[in-house]
Amino acid sequence: MMESLLPPLREDLQLKQSERDSLGQVAWVIHDPARNAFFSLDWLSSELIKRWFLRDANQVLESVNRETTLDADAQDLQELTEFLARNELLQVYSTAATDRLAQRSESHKPGFFGGLFKHYLYLRVPLFNPEPILRALTSWVKPLGTSWFQHLTSIVLIVGLFQLGRRWDSFTHSFGEVFNLQTLLQVALVVALVKILHEFGHAFAAYDRGCRVPRMGMVFLVLFPVAYTDVTDSWKLSPRDRMAIGIAGIRVELMVAAWATLIWGLLPSGGIRDGVFLVLTVTWIGTLLVNASPFMRFDGYFVLMDYWRVPNLHQRAGALGRWWLRKLFLGVDHSAPEYLGGQRNRLIAFALTTWSYRLIVFIAIAWMVYQLFPQPFGLILASIELGFFILLPLWRELRLWPSLMLQSLFKPQLWILWLCILGLTTALLYPYRDSVSVQGVALPEREIALTVQETSLIQSTKLKEGKVMQGDLIASLDNPELRYELQKLKLQQSKLEWTLSQSGFVADLLATESQLRAELLGVIQQVDALEQRLAALQIRAPIDGYFVPPDQHFAENSWVSIGTELGTIHSHNRVVMGYVNSLERHWIGLDRPIIWESEVFDETRILQGLEVANQAVESIELSMLLKAAGGDLNARRTSTGWIPDEAVYKFNAPYLGSSTNPYAHERGRLEIPTRPHSNWMLFSAAIRRQIHQDFGVNLSLLSE
Ligand SMILES: [Zn+2]
Repeated sequence: MMESLLPPLREDLQLKQSERDSLGQVAWVIHDPARNAFFSLDWLSSELIKRWFLRDANQVLESVNRETTLDADAQDLQELTEFLARNELLQVYSTAATDRLAQRSESHKPGFFGGLFKHYLYLRVPLFNPEPILRALTSWVKPLGTSWFQHLTSIVLIVGLFQLGRRWDSFTHSFGEVFNLQTLLQVALVVALVKILHEFGHAFAAYDRGCRVPRMGMVFLVLFPVAYTDVTDSWKLSPRDRMAIGIAGIRVELMVAAWATLIWGLLPSGGIRDGVFLVLTVTWIGTLLVNASPFMRFDGYFVLMDYWRVPNLHQRAGALGRWWLRKLFLGVDHSAPEYLGGQRNRLIAFALTTWSYRLIVFIAIAWMVYQLFPQPFGLILASIELGFFILLPLWRELRLWPSLMLQSLFKPQLWILWLCILGLTTALLYPYRDSVSVQGVALPEREIALTVQETSLIQSTKLKEGKVMQGDLIASLDNPELRYELQKLKLQQSKLEWTLSQSGFVADLLATESQLRAELLGVIQQVDALEQRLAALQIRAPIDGYFVPPDQHFAENSWVSIGTELGTIHSHNRVVMGYVNSLERHWIGLDRPIIWESEVFDETRILQGLEVANQAVESIELSMLLKAAGGDLNARRTSTGWIPDEAVYKFNAPYLGSSTNPYAHERGRLEIPTRPHSNWMLFSAAIRRQIHQDFGVNLSLLSE
């Protein structure tokens, strides 16, 4: 029970009426002039506050319940009192009340480490009062806000984008060059400059509408500096004016982006153009991705809040979202936290989107913090960030669930829902996969083409395909010219030999004996070479294997030229070859048998002794596996061959026994055993690979 006497409100506070909200209800705000802060109140709270002067809790409640359609109870009053105390809106004079407040604020005040964490996550540093600058510059800045300048900027934007489209290659090329430490510093500088312009956009818009702009400064969100402008005063204005102020920053950035785009297109390449390129990308990316997003507390949020006329959009959408989730998953049929008519579904959708967006963003930030800071600080800071922004809110909600769940334990549709969820989660996370399916090609281990070494006449060829032994004659060729040449040389040889045998008797021959011997040696060498060339015309199988005749038919006594193929010998030993990507290579490695299934023949086979190369291949040799040939592999054609889109490693495994068609190149599938992995692991790996491929960022934590 609460005491019946209410603690008095501070006397300097003003209760003001603001805009009607989306339901047409008058909204009230408490203005705290000391801090220039505004606290918006819902209908119930404002009715309670209006009667606060009655001082007695029961009287206040009675009055509200009698004079309005509201149904207020002690709990509402208690919560409101706590809200007022927490925000230091109460006069605190009785010692009991002071003690109670002190105790309360003590329990809300973070401890030393809590404070440290809070400052790491959120630290606000007011820097200066911009009003003198605003006063001095307002007449200069005013023309930039006029409609003719806006129209000019729109034209500039269209022309700029047109040029950008025309020079798109050069633009994307600039991207590749930009990322190094020096340009990173330049980017930081440009961001700072653009953000200062952005903040002055807000400031001028507010100043122009008669608001005080008491402070500008920095907020550090997870150590990341964000500029801010205090335009709290704008609560006094209409939503339309507030939207104009909220959107002014983005408008300034879009203006900068438009003009930078135009200038970039006009400049010749060089240092200035690179600088403009930075401004251009920073403003486009910064504006579109960060500022305009309504999912964080940036400009987009405040603009959307005014556009939908739903003050405290995040809290209210969050409450509705949680209510909706409880209803869906727990079957809790409490009434909705507030009645919002047609807006309800929109706000629930907004809450769900916001949560998903924040989940991704905070995980990304944690990952960056983890990478940027030396360990163990990176790990600690990333954990704090994740804990504070993701786990804590999640825990706050989920700890309520067991008791809520008990209330609706016997609803069959809930059981079905949870069984479905359990089933899907298991299918996603349970590591039931213990193999990967990879395409491969079965082919002879060696294939030797039998080629003609010398233009010659065909005497006979082995035309039938089939098994051959090493040394078997495949084709017999003849070259009459060579044989004639050989005969001539042999004649010359015997003549020389005869002459030399006579040299002992004929005196003048003695002098030339050494010369004759040299000549004979030359002739003998020529004879040897010719005999070898003639022997090579008898084409024999170099290995045991299987002979495959050529497609072409060669008639006897027809001429064949150098390089003509007279068939191929395929080794009896066959292998299965193919490629695995880095992840598959990382997973495989169990000594279980591999199952090979041919695409061509009705054959299944057990393979053993898979070997995977340590080096990724430079180009794809097994062209049957390319997408272009109906295979699985993505590769692009270059002058040096087919370059795979991602790193792949060649594997081979001996194929034991003989195939239906022992010389065929047959494509098929291998089931290669792996360490257990889940669908989720496959899915996330696919995403990481895609990111690596598209952005060159390696998110893989595997050691390769
Ligand atoms: Zn802004």
